[in-house]
Amino acid sequence: MDENIHQVAIIGGGVCGTALFYMLAEYTDINDIILIEKYDGVAMVNSHGRNNSQTLHCGDIETNYTLEKACKVKAAAEMVVNYTATLDNRDRVIFKYPKMVLGVGENECRKLRQRFEVFRERFSSMQLLEKEQIAEIEPNVVMVNGKLRPEPCIALAVLDEYCAVNFNQLAQSFVVEAQKNDKNLNIAMNCHVEQIIEQDGLFHIHSQGSVIQARSVVVSAGGHSLLLAQQMGYGLEFSCLPVAGSFYFTPKSLNGKVYTVQNDKLPFAAVHGDPDVLIDGKTRFGPTALLIPYLERYNRKTFAEFLRVLRLDRGVLKVFWDLFKVSDIRNYIFKNFLFEIPGFRRWLFLKDVRKIVPSLSLKDIQFAKGFGGVRPQLIDKKNAQLMMGEAKINSGNGILFNMTPSPGASSCLENAELDMRTIVDYLGGVIAEQKLRQTLH
Ligand SMILES: Cc1cc2nc3c(=O)[nH]c(=O)nc-3n(C[C@H](O)[C@H](O)[C@H](O)COP(=O)(O)OP(=O)(O)OC[C@H]3O[C@@H](n4cnc5c(N)ncnc54)[C@H](O)[C@@H]3O)c2cc1C
Repeated sequence: MDENIHQVAIIGGGVCGTALFYMLAEYTDINDIILIEKYDGVAMVNSHGRNNSQTLHCGDIETNYTLEKACKVKAAAEMVVNYTATLDNRDRVIFKYPKMVLGVGENECRKLRQRFEVFRERFSSMQLLEKEQIAEIEPNVVMVNGKLRPEPCIALAVLDEYCAVNFNQLAQSFVVEAQKNDKNLNIAMNCHVEQIIEQDGLFHIHSQGSVIQARSVVVSAGGHSLLLAQQMGYGLEFSCLPVAGSFYFTPKSLNGKVYTVQNDKLPFAAVHGDPDVLIDGKTRFGPTALLIPYLERYNRKTFAEFLRVLRLDRGVLKVFWDLFKVSDIRNYIFKNFLFEIPGFRRWLFLKDVRKIVPSLSLKDIQFAKGFGGVRPQLIDKKNAQLMMGEAKINSGNGILFNMTPSPGASSCLENAELDMRTIVDYLGGVIAEQKLRQTLH
């Protein structure tokens, strides 16, 4: 084979791209892989610990997940736990805390009791905690001035499982583990892909005047995946709605993760609080859900790219209209804009935070400046629907595109396995199935 032609090029060095880099290097006979990233390090965008909620989603405390979805997400998350089992620096990658979803008021408590009955068989470590039991684990959640808070409260909790991940460290470990294989593994940093051209069964990846060639390509570049796909004529039936999430800090007020019950009408996860794995002694609350016109948070240069993937037409307008028609969603979108107004936002956010820790006051709350990422939610224009979760475009001829909003980081290895199978099938390679089963499943 021509030594300048790689077997696989992966565009995007986030946790998804690096997971695939590891998967192909470790479990297949593919010998020549290149990972291409526009920044000078891996996982600097949504997979950076600053920019996401650091949760290994298992579906148990996320009340927007049905049992079926939760079981799927849990299996994917277990792959991450299994992968980290042999890492030398496991304790810097993955963390154990108590985690719970808190119900406040009669209605939410009833919902959680019902959920417990549905989930307890498949999620055998889940416990139902009454108010006094919550106080033993998270005193600040139910105690105010030494007394139990007056509203009815219960929680569904899992107390001794891995539930937090520094996804930046995870991505770095994927690269290190991949490189332990004696293969031609290349990493091109500071390499911004501008265009991919397919010609005679080869992909020509253009970046700042140079061209990288590959027989197959996987693009895991967040919202930019759709941009690169549409340049090639794929995924034109989709539009992208970037939903940013911001965070707030308080002094340490929680021992573990405390989620709240989801409003069924809202498409984005409810606010939660947890210890920040990057900053000692702080509790982080969030994320908010703000519609922004950028594909990358805090990067105004991505405004033009957003306009290109928005592809505004009747289908997109119908989705916006359907969202705005529902008063809960309309108010939520409006409230999330207000969350960005300096001065006012701390006061407004305090109300949400007090549902979790009622004794917090305004002086305790600090906007987490520079924290937060963007979830590239896709809009299916044909069916005028906002799509939740991950999306994939498979051209069928050796190039795939991944768009991975939450819980994309938790399911990075599951998604990488799917892509590995597609690519190996396309190139006619072999997968070390037994090793894969023993190590990750
Ligand atoms: C506020 C918030 C909270 C979240 N919380 C969680 C959570 O708790 N748990 C969870 O599982 N998920 C969470 N997510 C989702 C999670 O962050 C993403 O699913 C995950 O990080 C996606 O990884 P990725 O590798 O696909 O994308 P990214 O991490 O965004 O990586 C994409 C990479 O592609 C590179 N790139 C882009 N364009 C180009 C180009 N043209 N050329 C070269 N390189 C390019 C970028 O520089 C970047 O490094 C959250 C997301 C947000 C925004």
